Amino acid sequence: MKKITMTVKLPLFRPTHAKQEMYRTMRSEFARLLNRVLDIKRQQPALNAKDIDHLLKKESILPSTTRQEARKLALSRYEEWEMNKTTKSFPRFKEKQTILFNNQNWRLRYDNGRLKLGIPTIEKGILTLEKYVPVQTNDYTEFWVQTLLTGEWDRTSKHYHPSFERIIEIKKGQGQLYEKKKRWYFAFSVTLIMRETEKPVQGKTVGVDRGLKMIAVAGCGQTGEYLIFHGRHLGHIRRNYHRLRRQLQTAKNRKAIKRLGCKERRIVHYWNHVISKRIVQFAEQTGATVIKLERLKGIRQMKRHWKRSDRNIHSWSFFDLEKKIQYKAEQKGLTVEYVDPYKTSQQCFRCGNVKRTNRRGSLFQCSCGYTKQADVNASFVISARPSIAG
Ligand SMILES: [Zn+2]
Repeated sequence: MKKITMTVKLPLFRPTHAKQEMYRTMRSEFARLLNRVLDIKRQQPALNAKDIDHLLKKESILPSTTRQEARKLALSRYEEWEMNKTTKSFPRFKEKQTILFNNQNWRLRYDNGRLKLGIPTIEKGILTLEKYVPVQTNDYTEFWVQTLLTGEWDRTSKHYHPSFERIIEIKKGQGQLYEKKKRWYFAFSVTLIMRETEKPVQGKTVGVDRGLKMIAVAGCGQTGEYLIFHGRHLGHIRRNYHRLRRQLQTAKNRKAIKRLGCKERRIVHYWNHVISKRIVQFAEQTGATVIKLERLKGIRQMKRHWKRSDRNIHSWSFFDLEKKIQYKAEQKGLTVEYVDPYKTSQQCFRCGNVKRTNRRGSLFQCSCGYTKQADVNASFVISARPSIAG
């Protein structure tokens, strides 16, 4: 099972001055409770959550669940401090706090077509558990409010995604009331509990090897099919722009250099779009369900292997290609997984031996007799590697 948690933010619709004052009072009371818990714990470290809840009950009018949210937050801050006592000063909460509401403590409902939020309020010292106030929505928040209220999502909405069909449960989470730049907001979390995608047993996989000489090679080790992108266009662009850029630099025309950067970027974006599309098509044609890429750790590590003139364009074009493959694969219902990049170019796809001398320029030759174009071998190796998490 997979959990996805997201936050939906709703601005309150024109709260009156009286309402805003009341929220501020609640906010101060919430902050006071937070600091009160810290003080209690400092004086009597042995007290547990239940004891503290009991103490707070006597001295605050806030609803019990809100008091408990304050206690939870303050205790976690206290424990954090406990562990780093020597270096950290004792925590203290600011006056302007976000008021937390337990998931049982807030509701949404429609009232004459207008969405309203029900939260506990204190007016003239009297606690009301569900006081409804109007809130503002937009297309996106409306979609999630509807989903939460009905348990069904609007399949015609542009915010709908096919993966929602895997949702088993939609859970309403904690609510937060806060003021930001003189406006009041209510934010709440929604957790989607989803079924994992079913993976067919022994499904085919396509590995993608990204490199400098060859921009990308996609290969399926199981079927022996592959697809090569030489990136000759890009090499040409790169050289041309590099030369131009140097000329401009001597002329100290910085604006022109900037424009050049944008143009270069657009061209690479375009080619990455074409390449990623073709790779996903190729995966579909071979009947693969998974596309595997090397998990590239830091671009800094890779940079060492590149010539100075290639660095800029590559540092981002690699990740851009990755993002585009991911996006297009998901649209077609394919999964993108990552493998350890350790010596993928030196390992033999047939026998698994790793030897530096196996690779001679663009040819891969193993002592077991296996011979292949080097990047094609690497793509096969990637396609057969076990996936790593993340
Ligand atoms: Zn071999």
